[in-house]
Amino acid sequence: MKIIIVGAGVAGLSTYLQLCKVLPSFDSHTVLIFESHKPRGDNSSRSSNPSLAEQQGLTDRAAIVGNSIALVPSSMRLLKYIDTRVYDIFKARGCVNESYTFRTARGHLIAVTSTGDKESPEEYTVSCPRYGLWECLHEVVGEDKIQYRTVSEVDLSGEKPVVRLADGGEESADLVIGADGVRSVVKKAIFGEENDRQYAPCYEGFCGVGAFIEGDIPEAIIKHRSMVFTFGPTGSFGYCSAAPQSQRKLGWWSNWGTPEAPDGNVMDPEEIRKQLRERHGTWKDPVIQNIIEEMDTDRIYPIWTTPDLPHWGEGGAVLLGDAAHTLPATSGQGAGQALEDSVVFSLLLAHYMAKAEATGGGLTVEEVVTLSIKGLYEIRYPRVATIKARSRNLYLTNKKIDNVVFEYMYYLFIYMWTNFPILGQLIVGTVFMDADERGAGEQVEEYLKKKGQ
Ligand SMILES: Cc1cc2nc3c(=O)[nH]c(=O)nc-3n(C[C@H](O)[C@H](O)[C@H](O)COP(=O)(O)OP(=O)(O)OC[C@H]3O[C@@H](n4cnc5c(N)ncnc54)[C@H](O)[C@@H]3O)c2cc1C
Repeated sequence: MKIIIVGAGVAGLSTYLQLCKVLPSFDSHTVLIFESHKPRGDNSSRSSNPSLAEQQGLTDRAAIVGNSIALVPSSMRLLKYIDTRVYDIFKARGCVNESYTFRTARGHLIAVTSTGDKESPEEYTVSCPRYGLWECLHEVVGEDKIQYRTVSEVDLSGEKPVVRLADGGEESADLVIGADGVRSVVKKAIFGEENDRQYAPCYEGFCGVGAFIEGDIPEAIIKHRSMVFTFGPTGSFGYCSAAPQSQRKLGWWSNWGTPEAPDGNVMDPEEIRKQLRERHGTWKDPVIQNIIEEMDTDRIYPIWTTPDLPHWGEGGAVLLGDAAHTLPATSGQGAGQALEDSVVFSLLLAHYMAKAEATGGGLTVEEVVTLSIKGLYEIRYPRVATIKARSRNLYLTNKKIDNVVFEYMYYLFIYMWTNFPILGQLIVGTVFMDADERGAGEQVEEYLKKKGQ
């Protein structure tokens, strides 16, 4: 079987590693990985804010490298399951957060909740620069496996999918995996004109800004080994240690509601500071005030999501990760869901391949691919839809709250879901708290059993 993976981000590279592990006779298959952008070189996740020049040309989504990412315990377990080397590197370079601290803009402490999943050994939420996760995956997969070539078009009209490259090259395959993010070329091939009309990325009514500063790690983080989230009438502000605390690398982010998507991603840092002061200048936490004065980023990110798609592939092409379901960045779950897609799809493909081999041609390669794509959607779509809905519940202040009564009602709402786990589970579920979800492997097993396959 010949497989082409478009995109060497979280979804693409974790799928490659998972296929290496589970696909029967992996060496007898050909797997090509095409990526449009070269990594920025060694230690990039450990330096300060990446310069604009370094980010030029990256896709909208991938460009937002100057920000933190956090993997919740279930995603950490999945990372370990996919490859222990990636897990070890990510954990060593990131910061293990044992709790989340929730505060109000007026300085009230709402809750300190554990991030631990109470399993043995216990996993906690790990934070790291976003680019750090890509680096770990690149290191383990190996640069020699990745071809830095941009896919310009995918043609699904023939017997087999054909991938056309911007450099004039062309490759056909039995399966094309679209792991190419929010503005996916593979998605365009699958949905044709509908892609622009009905399934183009939607602006969520939210924007974000965030980066890193170097300096002493605040007491609020050290005391409870915590990520700190503050909510107020004009948005939210968060900070965490983005590396082991000894490295003094503080990641921060601010999200706010605004009905119109800004024209571009780039803004004068002084204008960003002015806006941060307008939104958070009266907030009581001195750490927030210090970050606003110290920060030097020139990037903001409007938050885009993918509309619900009726399927995640056909004609020998499948979508994984953000290409299938870009979630609000505020959900903190996009990378974790990309990992889940990778595991579920690879297990299904391996299962149907093994079945095809065992039945001596009872299933064709096309049927193997079609069944795997269908299974992926049936297993994964409901979970992703729930996460999307819950993250919208959490960030219901996409309009300014200009009334003190509503402001306190909002704090009460946060107090309820952070202090009463059952309520929290219903309202925000895995957005901050890690649900007792079944593992990806179990979900696949259950699905296959139900289908009698
Ligand atoms: C600010 C921010 C904060 C976030 N925080 C979190 C968090 O805390 N926790 C979490 O789990 N998730 C978080 N996310 C979401 C997470 O980063 C994404 O969901 C995740 O990166 C998706 O991975 P992906 O591989 O599907 O797509 P991407 O990471 O976008 O990778 C796609 C890859 O495809 C390549 N590509 C695109 N087009 C082509 C082409 N035509 N040819 C070849 N290659 C191509 C791109 O260069 C890129 O490398 C956050 C996102 C943002 C924006």
